[in-house]
Amino acid sequence: MNSVELIPAGSQYRTPVFERELSPPLEAQESYFVVTPEEERAFQAIVHDDKKLKDLISLLPKAELHNHLEGAVRPSTVLEIAKRDGIPIPESTVEEVAKATSMQPGDDLLVFLQKIRTYAFVFDKKEDISRVTYETVEDAARQNVKYLELRFNPLKQKEKYVTVEEFIESALAGARKAEEDLGVKTRLIVSINRSYPVEAAWRVARAAIKYEDEGVVGMDLAADEINYPPELFADVFKFARENGVHVTIHAGEAAGPESVRKAIELCGAERIGHGVRSQEDPSLEAILAERKIPLELCPTSNLQTGAVPSLGSYPLKHYLNLGIPVTLNTDDSQIFLTTLNDEYAKMARSGLSLSELLQVDAHGLNVAFLPESEKRELRPEFLQGFRNVLQAVHHYGLKPLNP
Ligand SMILES: [Zn+2]
Repeated sequence: MNSVELIPAGSQYRTPVFERELSPPLEAQESYFVVTPEEERAFQAIVHDDKKLKDLISLLPKAELHNHLEGAVRPSTVLEIAKRDGIPIPESTVEEVAKATSMQPGDDLLVFLQKIRTYAFVFDKKEDISRVTYETVEDAARQNVKYLELRFNPLKQKEKYVTVEEFIESALAGARKAEEDLGVKTRLIVSINRSYPVEAAWRVARAAIKYEDEGVVGMDLAADEINYPPELFADVFKFARENGVHVTIHAGEAAGPESVRKAIELCGAERIGHGVRSQEDPSLEAILAERKIPLELCPTSNLQTGAVPSLGSYPLKHYLNLGIPVTLNTDDSQIFLTTLNDEYAKMARSGLSLSELLQVDAHGLNVAFLPESEKRELRPEFLQGFRNVLQAVHHYGLKPLNP
């Protein structure tokens, strides 16, 4: 593959006829971006140089679609809030908090999730929820993220301190301010913990619909996939979709391909969180490819939770070759001690071509839960970023494009 599809096939915005029908007319956008074989070869030399690869990836404007607020809180903020409110925690330095709030050797995900509940006090107050939201967008901006879908469970504290609505409003306030200050378009996804009773999911779904026009774009199902299959929540997701809320569901991470299939068939999932185990069932892969159902892949998370044995065999390229729109994400940057740029670098080193890397990036924007008109506004910036990356490839490995 040498050409990157910038606008998905079938999009109404590809056809010149449609362009002419719009009033006022929007300028035509390029549909493809071509990387030459020489540029691909130069890129393959660059991937072995950590500094150059890092520089190159930081030039890429990105969309991140799978990022949990709860897993992205800065250790320094945890410590500061604990000190301010006199909350006793065993750690007294940022380094100690960072260690306590990240996966350590021997932790499995369920053990770890139990552990991290200790620090849920950062979501007790409205102003703190706004703050951690703002800081998470700020951290994403450092990765050159231009569009962020940030997800969180607004029932985290079981409404003991803030209601579902207050939680969402506080996150929206933080996201709005960050968008203004930092220029990162930010939308929210409310997440349902699948171990909660179904009534709780209904509560969250109704709130998602209430805030649909203010920046809540989707609903997610997260946590213990093995013991709580997606079909338990089928009616809730149907209701959300009928009311215009997009649906993404964690599946094919701890459980196998059947979980992905149920998320799609029974809950109407438009995107799959992880879905990394879809490769265990070729008939499921065929469905994902044919219906162009995106996977929100999170390689470091999948490695640390044991969903994949190694990154060397990570199936991103495999899915890409099948025509499944895969995207790259951090999942929980502070828990897995990663960044979005790290995820791109890891995949580049595992054998992706430059055009494949750019395609993954383009997918992030193309499959975002945004109206096409808003994606369209962001695309020129992405395209310019691709050009800048090529310029850097020429600078590092070939003669300059514009000497
Ligand atoms: Zn996740």
